[in-house]
Amino acid sequence: SELIHQLENTIENIPDFPKPGIQFKDITPIFLNPKLYEEVIANLADFSRGKVDAVCGIESRGYLFGIAIAVALEVPFILIRKKGKLPPPFVGEKYDLEYGSAEIEMRTGQIKPGQRILVHDDLLATGGTTEAAAKLVEKQGAKVSQFSFLIGLKDLDGEKRLQQFNAPVHSILEY
Ligand code: 5GP
Repeated sequence: SELIHQLENTIENIPDFPKPGIQFKDITPIFLNPKLYEEVIANLADFSRGKVDAVCGIESRGYLFGIAIAVALEVPFILIRKKGKLPPPFVGEKYDLEYGSAEIEMRTGQIKPGQRILVHDDLLATGGTTEAAAKLVEKQGAKVSQFSFLIGLKDLDGEKRLQQFNAPVHSILEY
């Protein structure tokens, strides 16, 4: 589609960042083009309209689109943050990285039991970050009903890792 084509021409591929051998997808040029940004939000909002009670965005690029999706759908937005940033009370979830581990946190009570939740981030790679976010959501008695991303990296099997949640996964672009 036209949107996919425009995004392909806008997102920059940066070789060897942040480490040798990694090709980083830089999404920041999207924000230089407000019309394109609007179309991205319309695409993501259309996927979730009528299907979610709240949106959870993952720090920090997940906020750039997640809040706008929530506003378009007129549902609450909840921040998932890296460890140590949120005041108590909060709940946390640890997850493994290539080397070592990380932890994400969310304020307690912002998600209500029984809610259908969209978990959103800019990019799905191994799925480790999103899996931890989804576990955090379900720990609070809510249901992850959808995942959405701007970009899904196919070779890294992130979608397989999310299958346990039994929720549709939407990426505008796949590489
Ligand atoms: P995963 O946990 O799925 O392996 O990695 C996904 C997380 O890493 C997301 O939060 C995403 O923002 C970040 N990430 C990894 N690679 C890239 C990349 O090439 N571009 C961008 N924009 N984010 C990336």
